[in-house]
Amino acid sequence: MRSKVEVNADQALKVIDLSTTQLIKKFDTDFTQEVIEYASKFFENVENVKSCIQCATCTGSCPSGRETAWRVRKLIRQIQLGLKNAAIRNDVLWDCTTCYTCQERCPRLIPITDIVRAVRNIAVRNGFMLPRHVQVAGLMIKHGHAVPINDEVKAVRKEIGLSELPPTVHSYPDALGEVKKLLDETGFTKLVEEASKGVQK
Ligand code: SF4
Ligand code: SF4
Repeated sequence: MRSKVEVNADQALKVIDLSTTQLIKKFDTDFTQEVIEYASKFFENVENVKSCIQCATCTGSCPSGRETAWRVRKLIRQIQLGLKNAAIRNDVLWDCTTCYTCQERCPRLIPITDIVRAVRNIAVRNGFMLPRHVQVAGLMIKHGHAVPINDEVKAVRKEIGLSELPPTVHSYPDALGEVKKLLDETGFTKLVEEASKGVQK
């Protein structure tokens, strides 16, 4: 018969196993590299993200952070630590206005705003989009234009000296097929469909 102490040791090991598994799930060590490789396709000096010293100049300069729970320094740390889920499954990720103030001030020359944009792309590719973004993207897919046009909008446009219809597919309805084809071929339509169904990878 096993002693009470041995049983407790087994239980403790189970707890350790469980927390190790959770830890592995929580820390995706490939995430740092994923962000660097993805963002480097479009932006320069992304590798600098590794050199963040958490000085908080970015967060302290951030106009969005004054009004919301968005803390850009935290995102940079999550990237360094490989906290993929925490970074991409986070609604505040979308509170950055991409004003570039943080990027201009970072003493480590980290392209912070570019990185935010890249992480948003990664989030969407993993099925995380805000419902209002899904809605706007859906309008784009359906009408070829993200802003619906109606009599009220037409009247406002006229009042400020614009043509009633914007020079988009609203004025050129024959181009709608081409817009839809572009959205299909770039994978945009599929991404939005998956996000709207809550398909997460
Ligand atoms: S300003 Fe640059 S170095 Fe300082 S915390 Fe932000 S990202 Fe890191
Ligand atoms: S780019 Fe985004 S994170 Fe940077 S200061 Fe502007 S709102 Fe804040």
